[in-house]
Amino acid sequence: MSIDIDNFLETVSTLIKGKDVPVVDLIAVQTKDPFKVLVATILSARTKDEATAKASKKLFKIAPDRKSLDLLSEEQIVKLIYPVGFYRNKARYLKKLPSALENFKGEIPDTIEELITLPGVGRKTANLVVSVAFQKPAICVDTHVHRIVNIWKYVETDTPFKTEMALRKKLPKQYWITVNSILVAFGQSICRPISPHCDICDLKSNCPQNGVRPRKVPGQKRNKSQPLKFISWNVNGIRALEKKGFKDILPDLDADVIGIQETKAQPDQLSEDLKNIPGYTSYWHSAEKKGYSGVAFYTRLPPLAVHEGLGDEEFDREGRVLTLEFGRYYLINIYFPNSGDKLKRLDFKLRFNDTLLSFAQKLGQEKEVILCGDFNVAHKEIDLKNPKNNIKNAGFTPEERSWMDNFIEAGFTDTFRIYNQEPDQYSWWSYRFNARAKNVGWRIDYFCVNQAARENVQNASILQEIIGSDHCPVQLEYLAR
Ligand code: SF4
Repeated sequence: MSIDIDNFLETVSTLIKGKDVPVVDLIAVQTKDPFKVLVATILSARTKDEATAKASKKLFKIAPDRKSLDLLSEEQIVKLIYPVGFYRNKARYLKKLPSALENFKGEIPDTIEELITLPGVGRKTANLVVSVAFQKPAICVDTHVHRIVNIWKYVETDTPFKTEMALRKKLPKQYWITVNSILVAFGQSICRPISPHCDICDLKSNCPQNGVRPRKVPGQKRNKSQPLKFISWNVNGIRALEKKGFKDILPDLDADVIGIQETKAQPDQLSEDLKNIPGYTSYWHSAEKKGYSGVAFYTRLPPLAVHEGLGDEEFDREGRVLTLEFGRYYLINIYFPNSGDKLKRLDFKLRFNDTLLSFAQKLGQEKEVILCGDFNVAHKEIDLKNPKNNIKNAGFTPEERSWMDNFIEAGFTDTFRIYNQEPDQYSWWSYRFNARAKNVGWRIDYFCVNQAARENVQNASILQEIIGSDHCPVQLEYLAR
């Protein structure tokens, strides 16, 4: 049965009263300036609103219009807009913007067709500028809009573009301009991407909750028939991620245990905030070398014991392995070495891999074993966008893939492929060439289990919508009987 969209959008409008308005809408209302709306919209892609607001403020202080933006070098723009996501690409687009606007007599055009000819402007940005800056009918489909209208089964689409087209046919025109602003605020506050707050949502009794796993209510006792949620994430520097809002992202992930890799920090470099996130206990294993490697756990479940490393000095000085021991199972968090430029560290990596396999097999003689982390290898051709071009490159060499074959033959299962055999499912994208936006990536982050643990696996997925690192988190749902 289809939802009553008038009722749903009215209810959402009431629910978000007093919540933060999306930053681009705020800038539109405050400035009524299409130039600033366009620039802020470019900055906002894959970036938290707080960071967009700060970067916009800094940039507009120096470059409030096209002419002053034209006077800045690309490097100056980088410094002003850092740390918004993809700041180098965005600085390049902004540098080119003033000259591109000359085709429109220096003005910001007010049609989607014209706007998408500008550097860094896709359909979503163009729709937002048309609707927010010019108040003309256009439907901007942010990821929140795409996600929520599919949760409601108001549309059934698999890409934001298809959602936009479906909404153009179906959504009453009176909502076109506002739907993005309403659903972004709703998606950021209540209907969150991971574990939405269905407990406080007035739509709960009528919402189809398509594909949703509602958030665990604080203080609620764990239902033992429900699976545990484990997450693994290469954060590419925990201190950098802290600046991008890790403290808020972590509770949203609603994981029972999260293993992180590439912390690039030693304990004395961690803020008290990072070490003490409410509800979680953290454990750290760092490299001797500062700013390098390192793994950590945040856990809600008290472990029986915590084991650092593999028991081999050659590898343990790099802070690559940390294990939590629970009653029935071990959870091993691993940051596998990268084979490096010209494969200089391939031998080291293969020795590490073999030591790790023996370690996991030894633990497997006692209990179920779950391994998570950045394996730094795409196992099969389906696991990366351009297999043919990468055969001789780190992460896809025959040696690394062959080790992964041996690992699977030794009885370990790549849990993601139990549930998903589709291509284009990646967990890492280069920061260069706009790779994430184009989904030119690699699947190198895994949850694997030994045979004893296999029957307890309930689901495995990739959380591509979570930003903050060049990797996204991966997830395992596990029934700890
Ligand atoms: S009930 Fe849950 S899934 Fe449905 S709209 Fe509300 S928060 Fe989102």
